[in-house]
Amino acid sequence: MNGNEGQTMLAAGVDVGSLAAKAAIVEVGSGCVIASACLPSGARPADSGADALKEALRLADLKLEAIEAIVATGYGRESLAVAQSSVTEITCAARGAHLLDPDVRTVVDIGGQDSKAISVDSEGFPLDFALNDRCAAGTGRFLEVMAHALGTDVAGLERLALSSEHPAPITRTCTVFAESEVVGLLSRGVEPADVAAGLCRAVGARTAALVRQVSVRPKVMLIGGVGMNRAIADALEEQLGVDLIVPEEPQVVVATGAALVAAERLRATAPIG
Ligand code: ADP
Repeated sequence: MNGNEGQTMLAAGVDVGSLAAKAAIVEVGSGCVIASACLPSGARPADSGADALKEALRLADLKLEAIEAIVATGYGRESLAVAQSSVTEITCAARGAHLLDPDVRTVVDIGGQDSKAISVDSEGFPLDFALNDRCAAGTGRFLEVMAHALGTDVAGLERLALSSEHPAPITRTCTVFAESEVVGLLSRGVEPADVAAGLCRAVGARTAALVRQVSVRPKVMLIGGVGMNRAIADALEEQLGVDLIVPEEPQVVVATGAALVAAERLRATAPIG
């Protein structure tokens, strides 16, 4: 795959997630991000991953031949035929967060169906991690179900939550029971905004408990699709008692980390001139 001779060497990372596929393209020498893309995952994760990569290539006005190495990560990482190798999301989250801020020591990743807390060293390598992948509670899927119960989507749930002054306590963590609780609160006349704010607080509290399983060492960065919800970031900040860094595009940090791993592997085999 060397259609890029005489030009900057490029590497790509593809994060085949449970609910969204993400791709990022980086310059091998500098680690600079050239383009990234995010698409909803369809029934075939491999196709969604390939489509996300095509979209990133289109945005960068590049052809696949211009990419020297591709690393896959995420839930469906083994299915992506175009990738030469795969790496865990833990490593990629750590690499991606380190690129954005080398002072990050704790990464919190709230995705579609799981959440993770990762302790990171000064070189951007994972030291320890805690994972919630047993149930949807506190994940993007949880928020999607709750948004539906509130008659809105995840962006609408965030807007509602940010407008509340009296968050309603949500006591159930299980998605099914919490949904019944939400329906019950609404039928008793509790404001949707207060229910939405209570849900964001509940996700914040649940995530904070996960983060405490590793150490809460600043700087702390929030990534993953749910990182786009400011009400959840605020709740998590309050629970942890630290300021959070939320990157502009939290959902593509893991794909960026995968691209960096691809770039590191290329650098290890072919010195950059
Ligand atoms: P995965 O890698 O598991 O597919 P992602 O990190 O891509 O997960 O995150 C996907 C999740 O992000 C989805 O559940 C989606 O609903 C959620 N999400 C997207 N935008 C927002 C938002 N504005 N607020 C909260 N959640 C969001």
